[in-house]
Amino acid sequence: MALVTTKEMFKKAYEGKYAIGAFNINNMEIIQAVVNACKVKNSAVILSVSKGALKYAGPRYLKAIVDAAVEETGIDIALHLDHGPDLDTVKECVEAGFTSVMFDGSHYDYDENVRLTKEVVEYAHAHGVVVEAELGVLAGVEDDVHAEAHVYTNPDQAVDFVNKTGVDSLAIAIGTSHGAFKFAGTPDLKFHILEEIQKKLPGFPIVLHGASAVSQEHIAMCNEYGAKIKGAQGIPVEMLRKASEMGVCKINMDTDIRLAMTAAIRKAFGDKPEAFDPRGYLGAARTEIQNLVEKKIDEVLGSANSMN
Ligand SMILES: [Zn+2]
Repeated sequence: MALVTTKEMFKKAYEGKYAIGAFNINNMEIIQAVVNACKVKNSAVILSVSKGALKYAGPRYLKAIVDAAVEETGIDIALHLDHGPDLDTVKECVEAGFTSVMFDGSHYDYDENVRLTKEVVEYAHAHGVVVEAELGVLAGVEDDVHAEAHVYTNPDQAVDFVNKTGVDSLAIAIGTSHGAFKFAGTPDLKFHILEEIQKKLPGFPIVLHGASAVSQEHIAMCNEYGAKIKGAQGIPVEMLRKASEMGVCKINMDTDIRLAMTAAIRKAFGDKPEAFDPRGYLGAARTEIQNLVEKKIDEVLGSANSMN
């Protein structure tokens, strides 16, 4: 058993009109929760490591725990660098054994994004690693990644970008955003852009970042136990399902895991103020995240039985 790339999973997902979940991991409990849920649902999965997670846990620790997850569960797992800022970070992850990397050059001008992405693709492909790039700008905040406003992806530019760089998948901007506060008013995704891109790039895997649903149940649970989280809103589940039927093969979720974990830990402390065994509250967090991911696979991703 070994880690896999996203190549086969995306092919099956595209044909089956479902999406593979990409969940951000930072420690053992999150990894176990996500892979155990995927094992239950017989679903392939992408475990994403952001620059912040690299700094927090280190690529080797995360790789070693993920290797254990492959052996324990037997499911298809891709280990992915999320929002790689430069070739050096990409190299660090490829050398550590990651099977997929994202290079995010979306904040550069178009020609520079093409040039840098192409460089990453040449290096990664030479090492058997697949590459995701980004075109367009997502609003919101996530670790070191932040932007004030959306710049929607231009479909003709997307075709040109894919042809010039040779990337394996492309993250596009159609109105999703990073963080817990995605919409001030009514949620709105530009499906016509996705439709046009899919028509121009048939069979090509599209990626949606910033696609947490932001569970109001978890926000209420956090606030009940002392948090102050107000006005948070995510992407409605129906919109994500629709996207996965339109060529979106990878849906990124980070905020939902953070909220589930925080809610469970706050509740554990609130319910048992006398307890101080980390296995108690971290175990509660792990269970909460596993339940969340199982629900995601059923309601958002449709990737149950994607291993068959
Ligand atoms: Zn992202």
